[in-house]
Amino acid sequence: MKVTLLVSGLLFLPDSVQSFLSPGVHRAAAMNLPGKTRLTSTSSGAIQPLRRSLQASSSVVKKPASRLMVNLLTATSTFGTSSIIKSLPILGTLVVAGLLAARLPGVIARGWRSYNKEENSVGREYDAWTREKILEHYWGEHIHLGYYTEEDQKAGYLKKNFIGAKYDFIDRMMAFAKLDGQTFKPAKVLDVGCGIGGTTRYIAKKLGTTSQVSGITLSQEQVRRAKELAEEQDVTNAEFQVMDALHMSYPDNSFDLVWACESGEHMPDKKAYVEEMVRVLKPGGTLVIACWCQRDAKAFPLSRLEQKRVDFMCTEWSHPYFISIQDFERLALDTGVMENVRTEDWAKFTLPSWRHSVWVGVFDPFFWMLRPHLWVKILRDAFTLNVFHNAFKDGLMGYGMIYAQKKK
Ligand code: SAH
Repeated sequence: MKVTLLVSGLLFLPDSVQSFLSPGVHRAAAMNLPGKTRLTSTSSGAIQPLRRSLQASSSVVKKPASRLMVNLLTATSTFGTSSIIKSLPILGTLVVAGLLAARLPGVIARGWRSYNKEENSVGREYDAWTREKILEHYWGEHIHLGYYTEEDQKAGYLKKNFIGAKYDFIDRMMAFAKLDGQTFKPAKVLDVGCGIGGTTRYIAKKLGTTSQVSGITLSQEQVRRAKELAEEQDVTNAEFQVMDALHMSYPDNSFDLVWACESGEHMPDKKAYVEEMVRVLKPGGTLVIACWCQRDAKAFPLSRLEQKRVDFMCTEWSHPYFISIQDFERLALDTGVMENVRTEDWAKFTLPSWRHSVWVGVFDPFFWMLRPHLWVKILRDAFTLNVFHNAFKDGLMGYGMIYAQKKK
């Protein structure tokens, strides 16, 4: 009986504690479970309606954590407390494992790799990733998420080629930028935060040698590798250099297209990021940004625990902070020279990428197994990938796509 009360009580913990345990538990309680008075009552008269209601709830509740809770309540009301007590060690292990897997960042205050401008932590981390070769082995030439259509997801995202999904993403982003190479064939393109230049070269090949594509990054190692690959692939119209996107050496009005894919996350000043890209854009030119964004906190303030999760996602992978898709839209409009601003959230099309990233390491383990010095880092990254998966799934994060044109 005490167990029943304890578990019942869990359903009525403050919102923040419930969402910590699982956002689904709260929803289950709100949507499917009977009222507070009936749940807390364990007298035999109340047990039957409680059990019936819980059994009905169990079939409706989809989230595993919510189902576990509902099933636990059902079992308690059906089998009594002794069998529940016997299974407590298993349940305890499951709960601890669940907490660790799903919500540890709510407990850990900080990640390992905080953003540090003075130490160029971004450049340093990408230098290390490039040297380790592990990212390139699994992700190929592209350091961004993949695109999975609804059909891909229905068929099972693991059936899709992991690296192929990244090329699909670039094709979709090109379509979003109206970059078809015919009606819009920019002569000068800038790839801001180019990684090892996968997209820079892809666009350069697509546009042909009448166009020149420049890629900039903070990582010397990425520039070295990007040049090496351009040479191997005989791409002559792509060039790479180390340059800070917030202080570019290009003159005003230099490019017809400024492309920024998953670099904004690392920028310590998003306003300067947008303004600097707009500055180097020619009048009539196109700016397109893809960036991990957090929920609009002005419309829906973040709870303390959500803020902790965001802090973890920042400090683990050297991100100073995130902004919302709406913030990006405002920043573009606030420049006063941008028009036709358009935004979309591609979270649902990119979501499978997070877990797919982990699965490719499971299916092809030899590369990382042979490098024991990287095991801790890899394990940590696998964990972080799941943290991001959860955040994009429950709407704490969104995948921002921003399009704008500079007024003529
Ligand atoms: N756009 C690439 C890589 C994304 S990874 C791709 O699609 O594959 C993020 C990239 O942003 C890294 O290359 C990193 O060096 C770069 N970056 C982050 N902050 C930057 C800054 N201030 N200036 C230039 N590049 C930056």
